[in-house]
Amino acid sequence: MKGPLLKVENLVKHYPLGGGIFNKDPLVVRAVQDVSFSVETGETLCIVGESGCGKSTVARLLMRLSEPTEGRVLLEGTDIASLNAHALRDGRRRMQMVFQDPYSSLNPRLTAGQIITEPVENFERLSRRKREALAAELLQKVGLAPEIMHRLPSDLSGGQRQRVSIARALSLKPAIIIADEAVSALDVSVQAQILNLLMDIQEELGVAFVFISHDLGVVEHIGHRVAVMYLGRIVELASCEALFANPVHPYTEALIAAAPAPDHTKAPHAVPIEGEVPSSVSPPTGCAFHPRCPLAEERCRVEVPALTPMPDGRLVACHVRAPAEASV
Ligand code: SF4
Repeated sequence: MKGPLLKVENLVKHYPLGGGIFNKDPLVVRAVQDVSFSVETGETLCIVGESGCGKSTVARLLMRLSEPTEGRVLLEGTDIASLNAHALRDGRRRMQMVFQDPYSSLNPRLTAGQIITEPVENFERLSRRKREALAAELLQKVGLAPEIMHRLPSDLSGGQRQRVSIARALSLKPAIIIADEAVSALDVSVQAQILNLLMDIQEELGVAFVFISHDLGVVEHIGHRVAVMYLGRIVELASCEALFANPVHPYTEALIAAAPAPDHTKAPHAVPIEGEVPSSVSPPTGCAFHPRCPLAEERCRVEVPALTPMPDGRLVACHVRAPAEASV
């Protein structure tokens, strides 16, 4: 395979809200705007931002649960939009998803063992003995006792259910797992266990993750690189280490300053973010962050800043902190 495992090019997703036949300018939710990134084998790319920033829409577009308005998603060099139903089914073997709420994403009428082996059985018939052996192996991989395979989701704790979801995602030996707020519904101590489990699985199997979260503490724990999204756009993309030690975009800086974790290295002049995220139906002109940004200048109200490479390799979209004319 040439190139990255996953490549996302200029992804755009607009949701029309209607507006009547005489309305010349129907309302449109601009959920994702010109988003590009790549993920390498065995890497964890985190996508972080406040609620409504478009990060979960990106997850749906990656899985082709929703079609992009513009742009492409290339998995192992193949544009997933070009796949017919049969090829897409095969493609999904390589890319699996873990959702936020394991209770609603697991079929309540199936046992844990049936849930875990169901994806494999969509491709091949398994004898009962093989099915149970596979379930036991996958349960052990996620730190659960094989006997759990006979229990229903309602008989499991939240942490156990999420481990079952992860075992199910692993059953087809994917190259990449899209985890959308996969630990947000869990207690803090269980969160840490699941994050450590994912990191162990990555080390053992070389699987890549796109890890979507609003929680900077979680991102700092698990990420190799982080893409910070604001109102549908990536505003900063950097290594996890560089981003937390020295956030460059004013939004990243404010987000880190507002994070509750006590051990974050704060930017020296960081101030907590104020105000609400504007509507993605009528986003502000120019830089969408300008109504909340303490550094905003006249240019910020007019021109959308481009993601610009910085000397340390990160990308930042800000007229003041990363002027395009000074890019490397
Ligand atoms: Fe603030 Fe302007 Fe930078 Fe946007 S472009 S983050 S408004 S300084």
